Amino acid sequence: MSWTAPIDPVNKKPLKVSQLCEICHCRKAIIKRPKNLQKICKECFFYVFETEIHNTIVNNKLFYKGERVAVGASGGKDSTVLCYIMKLLNERHNYGIDIQLLSIDEGIVGYRDDSLATVKRNQKQYGLPLEIVSYKELYNWTMDEIVAVAGIRNSCTYCGVFRRQALDRGAQRLGINHIVTGHNADDMAETVLMNILRGDVARLEKSTSIITSSSGSPIKRSKPFKYTYQKEIVLYAHYKKLDYFSTECTYAPEAFRGTARELMKNLEGIRPSCIIDIIHSGENLVLKEKKKRIVSNQSEQQAKKQFADGNRCERCNYLSSNKICKGCILLEGLEKSRASVSIECDSANDGAARTLRTLERLSF
Ligand code: SF4
Ligand SMILES: [Zn+2]
Ligand SMILES: [Zn+2]
Repeated sequence: MSWTAPIDPVNKKPLKVSQLCEICHCRKAIIKRPKNLQKICKECFFYVFETEIHNTIVNNKLFYKGERVAVGASGGKDSTVLCYIMKLLNERHNYGIDIQLLSIDEGIVGYRDDSLATVKRNQKQYGLPLEIVSYKELYNWTMDEIVAVAGIRNSCTYCGVFRRQALDRGAQRLGINHIVTGHNADDMAETVLMNILRGDVARLEKSTSIITSSSGSPIKRSKPFKYTYQKEIVLYAHYKKLDYFSTECTYAPEAFRGTARELMKNLEGIRPSCIIDIIHSGENLVLKEKKKRIVSNQSEQQAKKQFADGNRCERCNYLSSNKICKGCILLEGLEKSRASVSIECDSANDGAARTLRTLERLSF
């Protein structure tokens, strides 16, 4: 039996063997997979992309039937693809989960207001309920107001602490105990690298966990994109013509993370598998007994510092291993700054800056 080469749908000429998809061998390859440089067609790309995420979900038993799950939705490419994929896989494989969208409004004019407009469109496109929790309603501060008094340099420190609490509070409001986020393989490898570069062994051991939760918290977080490359998420969003918001935040990412990101991108240019390799290295790292003892002694000391009343912040009642939670400490510094702004303009940063220095000295 003789083989007939498939016809190129564009120029109507027979395709050469080297132009064929390396998976199905019957359609023209149009994508070089960033993950392994395999040349594949669009249909096979959709199939492998979706199946790999499904396998991650099943192998790690991320969901149970009847579970209510909140998808952290920011309108960006990662979370938009996550919303789309979660709905698709839930229907295709009958996970039996109830999905809701949960968004945080940090109060960043020209960035978050536009990206939330995207989330609202996604809500209609995917027919999923949406809950929005704002920093203003929770903390009486927007990120724009925080940056105005605390400066741009520490914006992500404030934003990260407040977002963590805001997501938990939003999930609690919905009566949901599981939040899925769009953290991808690049983010995870970056975190592993950062912890190595900082020598933060305690965090290093936990940085590749697919499911995390704060001690005592009923709310868990999971990352179905743990093994998914950022470049493939962008390709998927592009070829599926998903509606997402691509503008970067007005405030620069933390300088150290930015440097680790650049380092990883340079490594990826030479060896594309390095992202997965870094994650696998992180997964297989085991602390030496001596280190473990030091870390556990530190944990014991921290535990001694804990107050008796069920690990809740005295001020806001949020879960905390200290008497006052990280968020309330930051808010206190901000309030001092707000007060000093009204008294003396050039001492505006004192309260926030001092609090941040104090916070950096504390270990949580
Ligand atoms: S870049 Fe920083 S300030 Fe902007 S949304 Fe992210 S964490 Fe918040
Ligand atoms: Zn194919
Ligand atoms: Zn608090």
